[in-house]
Formats: sequence, structure tokens, C-alpha cells
Amino acid sequence: MANTAQTEHTTRHTTQHSWDEECDVLVVGSGGGALTGAYGAAARGLDTLVVEKTAHFGGTTAYAGAGLWLPGNQAQARGGLEDSADLARAYFRAVVGDATEHTLQDAYLDHAAATVAFLEDSPHVRFEYRPFPDYFAAPGRFDMGRAVFPVELPALEGPHDLVDAVRPPAWAERLQLPTPEGPLTDGRALVARLLLALESTGNGRTRLHTALTELITEDGAVVGAVAEQDGRTLRIRARRGVLLAAGGFEANAELRREWQQLPGADWTMGAPGGNTGDAITAATGAGAAVDGLAESWWCPSLRFPDGSAAFTLGLHGGIFVDGSGRRFANESLPYDRMGRQMLAAKAGTSHDNPVWWVFDGRFGDELPGITVVPADRAAFTEAGLWRTADTLEALAEQLGVDAEALRDTVQTFNGHAEQGVDTDFHRGEDPYDRFFAQGEGANPCLVPIEKGPFHAVQIVLGDLGTKGGVRTDADARVLREDGAAIPGLYAAGNTAASVSGPCYPGPGVPIGSAMVFGHLAAVHMAGQSGA
Ligand SMILES: Cc1cc2nc3c(=O)[nH]c(=O)nc-3n(C[C@H](O)[C@H](O)[C@H](O)COP(=O)(O)OP(=O)(O)OC[C@H]3O[C@@H](n4cnc5c(N)ncnc54)[C@H](O)[C@@H]3O)c2cc1C
Repeated sequence: MANTAQTEHTTRHTTQHSWDEECDVLVVGSGGGALTGAYGAAARGLDTLVVEKTAHFGGTTAYAGAGLWLPGNQAQARGGLEDSADLARAYFRAVVGDATEHTLQDAYLDHAAATVAFLEDSPHVRFEYRPFPDYFAAPGRFDMGRAVFPVELPALEGPHDLVDAVRPPAWAERLQLPTPEGPLTDGRALVARLLLALESTGNGRTRLHTALTELITEDGAVVGAVAEQDGRTLRIRARRGVLLAAGGFEANAELRREWQQLPGADWTMGAPGGNTGDAITAATGAGAAVDGLAESWWCPSLRFPDGSAAFTLGLHGGIFVDGSGRRFANESLPYDRMGRQMLAAKAGTSHDNPVWWVFDGRFGDELPGITVVPADRAAFTEAGLWRTADTLEALAEQLGVDAEALRDTVQTFNGHAEQGVDTDFHRGEDPYDRFFAQGEGANPCLVPIEKGPFHAVQIVLGDLGTKGGVRTDADARVLREDGAAIPGLYAAGNTAASVSGPCYPGPGVPIGSAMVFGHLAAVHMAGQSGA
């Protein structure tokens, strides 16, 4: 059910035309949805202006692996995968069901292939299929996945100032290390490729350090926006419309407490400095309805000594225990599903209910899993976030959990490992579980915990961004509470309530759906949708 955000009314109504700048299409934000929309508009001859709040283009999209769930596309076909919108529809309906409007789901699925074809018409954009399993066992699933990824971009292919303007990888930003030399990969490749495509049209302008603050309406239609650039206030006219693709509100502690009942914004993986919900707030000020504000793309995350946390996936060893010393889920679950288990168990959701990732000495100084920001063991140990002991009992004492419970949990798990069957949580029964496994025997996901020293590392509930926001229709038009579209206003990505609702169906749904709806917005603004 839709709900309305309690936000200050920030829209400016205007009858006078004192503009500092004009364009056909104003795009707010510079992630995958924003830049697909910008390129889509500019390639159709529309004068397009992209404004980005921070010092870099790309937002969280630049941090991403940039798997893109775009079923039935030509890059999948080149990779030998026979996918289609209908196969994907069977899967999407099975896992998302009626949680979101079927018209919205169909708009995504039916325009995914065309979005890829349109983008690959540019010599700057190229995708390739790589295996990464879908997240649920359901009809229409691909066990080795259906996501495509941007082909890496040789660093020298683009003008250097543009390449330098793309947000660095998450690990480099977090650890304050230099941006790596060499080709741009993953999300950075996507952002740079889309920027190059936009630039090649001759119709696109981009601006950093420029933040949307308000929308300007006239007779109920959005006709422009107010933005702050280096302390200057700009009134920008947008003749065809404004596309809001400015991420979610993951970095806004106040909104997270209000809308998600979470302690704050420290544990998000969203790119810093940008995604504070400005576009959602501005849109509700213009009359937009909102939905799903409690939702995020969840993930278990390693807690860092500075109070932040980093996305952790692909466990190949160890178990998660809650404060009682017991397991509560299949640790090999896809990350959003694990996050939802953590929410249900109230495990790792606040400082008071820690989750510990317990593993044994066979991994040396390494964590048995993938963390997108590497952990420095000495610093973690000093901060009490990485504990080590020669026996499980001593480890339990350090963690403040019941020693008998922890010993019993480990014994039971080791029994499962010996049998090759996790009768408690069915770990290792799904192709996704096994994708990351490195163990041996009948069930390589079940690696016994038996050789000291024993380790425990703290895990909390993190996210890749929030996914509730303004309600939109099949043309990415922003809707009012009564279902009517607000003329001139469009949204994509995490600014919009997600097409997948409270579900993360497979790798690449966040950016893939952002790109499709960004493109649909451009098509509509160009007057080509027939809607
Ligand atoms: C490590 C990691 C890996 C991931 N891997 C994948 C993956 O493989 N596939 C996938 O689909 N998803 C992945 N995700 C999730 C995905 O990256 C995000 O959900 C998605 O990129 C969000 O896109 P967006 O366009 O909504 O926001 P963003 O990409 O964050 O872009 C929003 C931009 O808007 C700017 N902005 C905010 N407010 C304003 C304002 N007022 N004015 C102007 N600009 C503003 C921000 O600064 C930002 O640059 C991953 C996330 C992480 C952290």
C-alpha cells in the first residue's frame, strides 16, 4: 500500500520565467539509470543536462560489480544463453508475485532487451555475459545466472579528465588509496562508457558539485528545478521533463530512523556524500506518492573499526551465530536473503545484537569469504571486532555467548559437514550456495570448524542502498497518490519504489531496472512511447 512521506513542502510554484539555464531534459544524478536516461534523451536530439551533487560521476553504480539483469538481450545471446522476456517473467512473477504492479514488472521485462540493443548501438557501450546465479529456485531461473556485465574499458580510450571524474572503487575510497591505474572495470566501466556515449551525441552537458534542492512546478506540472552549484542557486528550466535518478536515502540517518527503524546510516555501502533522499523529498513536495520506504537491497556486512561496514558475500567457510551462540540461517544464502534473515532474527540489526562469523584456523589470516573492502586483521583485533582463541570455550567467553551453546552449535554443524547435509538450514543445496564453495566432499559448502585457533568476526546488517521511493508507472512517470502522473516528472533507480518490491530476484536487478526505466523516461520525453 502506498504511503505518503511526511516531508516539508519544498516545491516552488512559479508564474515568472527567470531561468539561469535551460535544457530539454534535466537528469538528476549520474548512476546507471541517470546516464542511460541522459544518453537516451541526448541520442534522440534532446538538449540534456546532467547534474551530480558530488565531486564524481557514478554514485553507488560506480562501486558495483555491475551485473545487469536485462533478460533476453543480445549480449546474452552472444554468450550462448537463450533467455527471453517470457522466461524471465515466469521467474519474476514466481519470486516477486503481486508485491508490485504487473504493468511495472512487464515494462521492465519487455524493454530490457531493447535497452541493451539501443545502448550497444553506440560504439562506446558493450556488454558480455558472465555466470552469477539467480537468487531463487523458481521456474524460469538460470542456475548460472543471466546477468550481463559492461566490458572493461581501457583507461586511455576516453579523455582522461572524464575517466578521472568517475568515482573510484569502494575499497580505494574507503581506505583512502589512489585510484587504480589500468582499465576501468565493472561499475566504473559502465559509468565511463555511458558518459562517453552521452558526450558523443553532442547534445549532453554534465556538471559536478551541483545538487537538486527543489522542483519548480507550474499548473501541477514540473517545468524545472532549483540546484545549488558551489554556493550559487540555479533555476534550471527543463522543457521536456526532469528525470530523478539520484539514488535512495541510504546516507540519511534521520530518514532511515524514521522510515526504516534502523539505528542510522553507518552501515550502508552507498557511495558517500550523495544519496540523502533529496530527490524523493523534492518529489513528494511536488505531490509524488511513495512506497516501500522500509526496503533496502540488504547484505551482511563486516563491521569496521571506524564504525562503517562493508558488503560481505560468497562465504566459503564458517558459520554465523547470533548472541545466543546459535545459527539462524543458511550462511550461503544470496546476500539480500541473508539480510532479511538477519532482520527476522533481529541479528546484527543494531549494536546490541551482534552476529559473529565463526571459523577455524585453516584459513590462516584470511577471511573465508569476499569483502569488498579488505580487513586489516591487526586493526580489527584491536577494535574487538576480530576475536581469536585456542578453544571454542575461550572464544565464547570473549564473545559473551553461552559456551555450551556455541560448542553444541559447532558440533552439530560438524556433523552436518560429515554427512554432507545441513538438516537445519539446507546449506549447499542450491546452485547459488555452491557457486562460491571451496570445500571438499559431498557438500563443499559445509566446511567443519575443528582446527584451532578459532576466530570470530563481527557481522552487521548492511545494504547496497535503499529501494523505496516515489511511485512510478510503466513510462517511469512519477505518480500522485490518486495514480495520476505528474507531468514533466520521471524517476528511476533507487529514487523510485523498486519494481521488485521486497525482493532481490537476481544479480543486476538494481542497476538493470534503473537503466530500463531511465531509458523509458527518455523515450517518453522524446514523445516516442505512444503512451
Ligand atoms: C559493492 C557493490 C556492488 C554492487 N553490485 C551490483 C551489481 O552487480 N548489480 C546491480 O544491479 N547492483 C549492484 N549494486 C547495487 C547498485 O550499485 C545500486 O543499487 C545502484 O547503483 C543504485 O543506482 P542509483 O542510480 O539509484 O544510485 P547511484 O548509482 O548511487 O547514483 C545516484 C547519484 O545521484 C547523486 N545525487 C544524490 N542526490 C543528488 C542531488 N540532490 N542532486 C544531484 N545529484 C544527486 C549521488 O551523488 C549519486 O552520484 C552494488 C552495490 C555495491 C555497493
